[in-house]
Amino acid sequence: MSAIDDLPPLREVIARHGLMAKKQLGQNFLLDLNLTSRIARASGPLEGVTVLEVGPGPGGLTRALLANGAARVVAIERDPRCLPALAEIAAHYPGRLEVIEGDALEVDAAAMLGQGPARIVANLPYNVATPLLTGWLTTEAWPPWFQSLTLMFQKEVAQRIVAPPGSDPYGRLGVLCGWRTEAKIAFDVGPSAFVPPPKVTSSVVHLVPRADPLPAKVKTMERLTAAAFGQRRKMIRQSLKGFVRDPLPLIEAAGLDPTERAENLTIAEFAMLARLADRTTGQE
Ligand code: SAM
Repeated sequence: MSAIDDLPPLREVIARHGLMAKKQLGQNFLLDLNLTSRIARASGPLEGVTVLEVGPGPGGLTRALLANGAARVVAIERDPRCLPALAEIAAHYPGRLEVIEGDALEVDAAAMLGQGPARIVANLPYNVATPLLTGWLTTEAWPPWFQSLTLMFQKEVAQRIVAPPGSDPYGRLGVLCGWRTEAKIAFDVGPSAFVPPPKVTSSVVHLVPRADPLPAKVKTMERLTAAAFGQRRKMIRQSLKGFVRDPLPLIEAAGLDPTERAENLTIAEFAMLARLADRTTGQE
């Protein structure tokens, strides 16, 4: 029995179901239910909330979410070997855990959740962590269907998510996250917490969607930041040629210095450039 529920310890679950970690699936399991409970608590109040979890694996975080009061967990897992272990958790919490076997990059998660408050909580597989986050943050409808995202990343990615303008890790990811959410690093998790241990430190990041982000079209912001940071050391009068044919009028209309570099532009300045570009091309 474990400290948080009457289910067996995770080490035993993994041994009984033969869940040897597979590197290609980004499998680094958390076995300490106190730590998974800490992640669950970092996501905010869970009473009455449906949680979307990506990659439950043997279910350490899933159990913590349920033990900490989530009304329902919908979990998407790609590895069929994990399903029997997850079925045991579902039996322990009748009607509260639904496991979908599939690739989280393909499954339309929002459609699975139904009405009511929802949060996303996951110890993400590192190979798909950034595309999943960008997918959630680039939905057209905003505010989105989820109240928060609480996600484990490699620390280096977490630093890019929360990076302020002018800092080394500031780039496309920082602009997107800072524009649409308030993001903070909740805490770091050392390699020894995982089985097998990854090479680097990880961080749990908590992102809360802004109710009212600065107006701009998400597609335009994506194109603009791709051009700007695709050549981050170049001046914007040069790098933004990948965004509009002649960037100078746009840069001047925004009141910016054409010799500035992308890494020094604020999120408000990116949003303004995106808005002005859409206005001049008649897309607004
Ligand atoms: N949540 C568990 C924990 O904390 O111990 C496992 C986390 S492990 C880092 C990542 C999990 O994501 C693995 O169970 C892996 O099989 C699963 N996974 C990998 N790629 C996936 C994908 N594209 N869609 C859904 N699950 C995936």
